[in-house]
Amino acid sequence: MRLPPALLPALLTGLLVIPLVPHAVSADPVAPPAPAVRDFGNGPERNEVAADVPVRAETRTAAQAEQPGALSHDRGYPRRTRLPVPPENPADASIKLGLVPHHGIAPRLNDLQQRGDRVSAQVIGRSYGGRDLYLVTVTAPESAAETREQERIRDRIENDPAAAARDRKLARRYKAPVFVNANIHGNEWEGTDAALRVIEELATSKDPEVADLLARTRLYFNITANPDGRVSGVRQNGAGFDLNRDFVTASQPEVRAMRQIMIDAQPVTMIDLHGYVNGTLIEPTTPPHGANYEYDVFIQNAYANGLGMEAAVNGLGYTVEKDGVYPAQIPFRDSAEGWDDWPPIFTPQYAPFHGAVAAHTVEIPLRVNGSDYTQQPVEELRRRSAINTDVAAAAIRATYAFVHDRHDRLIADQIEVFRRGSAGEPPKTVPLGIVPGFGPEDVYNTTFPRAYVITGRRSQAAAARLVDHLIANDVRVGRARHAFRADGRTYPAGSYVVDMRQPKRGLANVMLEAGADISPRVDAMYDISGWSHGLLWGAGVDGVTSLRVRADPVKAAAPTGSVPRAPGALALKVADAKDVLALNDLLAQGTAVTWADGAAIVPASARPAARAVAERYGVAFTPAGPLANPSAGTAAGAPLSQVRIAAAASADELFTLRELGFAVTPVSTAALNAGYDWSGTDVLFVSSGLSYTALSPAARAALDAFLTTGGVITRGGTGAAFNAAAGLLTATAVAGRGDANGVVRVLSTGGQIGNGSPDHSFVYSPRWFTGLGPEVTVEQSYAAEGPLVSGHWRPDADGAGGQDAARGQAAVVSGRDERGAAVVLFGTEPMFRNHPKGLFPQVARALYWASSVTGAAVKG
Ligand SMILES: [Zn+2]
Repeated sequence: MRLPPALLPALLTGLLVIPLVPHAVSADPVAPPAPAVRDFGNGPERNEVAADVPVRAETRTAAQAEQPGALSHDRGYPRRTRLPVPPENPADASIKLGLVPHHGIAPRLNDLQQRGDRVSAQVIGRSYGGRDLYLVTVTAPESAAETREQERIRDRIENDPAAAARDRKLARRYKAPVFVNANIHGNEWEGTDAALRVIEELATSKDPEVADLLARTRLYFNITANPDGRVSGVRQNGAGFDLNRDFVTASQPEVRAMRQIMIDAQPVTMIDLHGYVNGTLIEPTTPPHGANYEYDVFIQNAYANGLGMEAAVNGLGYTVEKDGVYPAQIPFRDSAEGWDDWPPIFTPQYAPFHGAVAAHTVEIPLRVNGSDYTQQPVEELRRRSAINTDVAAAAIRATYAFVHDRHDRLIADQIEVFRRGSAGEPPKTVPLGIVPGFGPEDVYNTTFPRAYVITGRRSQAAAARLVDHLIANDVRVGRARHAFRADGRTYPAGSYVVDMRQPKRGLANVMLEAGADISPRVDAMYDISGWSHGLLWGAGVDGVTSLRVRADPVKAAAPTGSVPRAPGALALKVADAKDVLALNDLLAQGTAVTWADGAAIVPASARPAARAVAERYGVAFTPAGPLANPSAGTAAGAPLSQVRIAAAASADELFTLRELGFAVTPVSTAALNAGYDWSGTDVLFVSSGLSYTALSPAARAALDAFLTTGGVITRGGTGAAFNAAAGLLTATAVAGRGDANGVVRVLSTGGQIGNGSPDHSFVYSPRWFTGLGPEVTVEQSYAAEGPLVSGHWRPDADGAGGQDAARGQAAVVSGRDERGAAVVLFGTEPMFRNHPKGLFPQVARALYWASSVTGAAVKG
């Protein structure tokens, strides 16, 4: 049980920890959120969905390409790297708060590296917007040989944990790694300034305690995880993504850089500095708890460090009366639910899979972003930022003191986590009362299969993507030397095998397992509750109970591209994002492609171009056979050309459409009212920020004219409203509960858009379609069982909008409206945060179909 809420200021329990249901912010806002700076109001700050924030059109240049960095182990410390200094930017949003702007960080770090022998800084990558990401290592000097020795121990802890556990001298020789991550949300600034302050203290201190600390630890600081957002004063990075939702997908370069820090440094403890929650919120969290952690180990250390940080923060002496600062709070202890560690999309919920046995979100107290940033006087903002910096610095100091005190135990616990994984031990049920207040409501378990087998039975390219993603996450993958049988199935040689006897099995499982429907156990969740690379990424993934096969470890998936030898036209089934990229490349080259039954048909004359894209993207062409027109050697079907999209869509959808190689122009109600030239558009995509009824008469007339020649694809409530108002397809959209989300079982029913889709889809604020007119084809429907496989989906208070109501209902429909426009309506969410990779081809097929049939009618 938790402490009675009376111990918390009433303000806090209602305001900060219990999320509003349905979410104040859904993936599908009715009104377009126009400004780049969003005011998140007083809702729980993690409770944001990146999907609904539009992003300005930004083009990446070669110079902005990612430069991933890794910690090298062949040089000692300090390293005294001269960091390049960016040009001064007087518009940096940090300046108003009296905080360090991004261009001020490199000079500070260059100076600190010169002021002693404890500080080393490096550039570990670049943000989406092309800004340098800085990693600082603070430790006592090491020779190159000593650094190699540290790396050998780290490697042994991970890869030979049983031996490491027996080595009594190991902890004495090993510097415990600590990771401090700052400013992952760009408009939660002060973690950066606190990190710089603490680094300076450590660099210059004469205190023997500090010398001892640095002899026994390595302290890693990611100075600002989100420089784009810091400079612009927004939560997201330059691509409009919430980086603290991206860890299972790693779509953004900033997240890939953080992931690499955690793999290379293997921290025993990490903290992630956020704002703003008053009093300071310090994890561990409420239930539900992620089921793939070694939670007995984790909660003991995390709670201890949480208490230590709380004491340090409260010890600063700030008060409600004098400063407006409430005492710190620990959700695990102080709240029943609403601040959970269920999805590993957050940094501290991802770090434990790489060995962090204590990991925390810390929310510093005084709000300086949103409306406060624009409306509060500068002096007040700076007063708040100064306090916030003190609080963040106190949390950092408490954490390294904790690691210093508990040094040997934290290392032993990290070894134990990897040891259980390597040994394939069954999951442990955490004993009740392991820490005060740990009750039955805190117990979450999963099961581990003996192995996962990954095959290309649906798409070789999809299997390769998943394998490469697992390897990038430091999950071990092997490739079967010969065909083998498991659980009554035969798998071909070359199938990939994830042996679950491995140190990071928790990470493998949390990505590959189906997950769980936790609707019955929890009233409300903080963010998404379902994800699954196994079900949503388009590869064939089976958990098996036995493993009898020789598998060779792989460093990358094998090449997958192929073109059949037999002469004649070729077909490319659009079954994976790589197929979409290849097809868009061919179209960009002007190849004469036709579209028939969900596949692209490439004439025999274009075989050299097909061979080139097969190699470039790893896609497999097949003989076109009956799809081709044998007499002329040309292809049947409708002519296809590059699809030019006007998109009123969320940031993640824009990113995904562009990533697939489509030409996308963002539009909105305002953009259309300002006068929009439709002549360069083939398909309009509507999911956010466009209301047909809010268009001016002139804009509506122009759009109506487009609808006689162009196609329309919609998603969600905004899309469904557009369909109704514009009089497109005869269909009534029914809304499921607004906060329902997760992986759903679906049935694809024949149309060329649904055909070839995975048996699962993803929903957030799900919708379904009833009252279908004769012109409407059901492409996909929610399964009669479930339909939720994993996630959280309850009925509304009136009993409607739940899973039961959605059973068997149409989830994706298509049709030609009376004007001739080809229209597809999605009630699912196939591009959510760039995660469900296996669903992207469904959107692409909708685009190709809509553009080919509508365009063909006009082009004659
Ligand atoms: Zn935050």
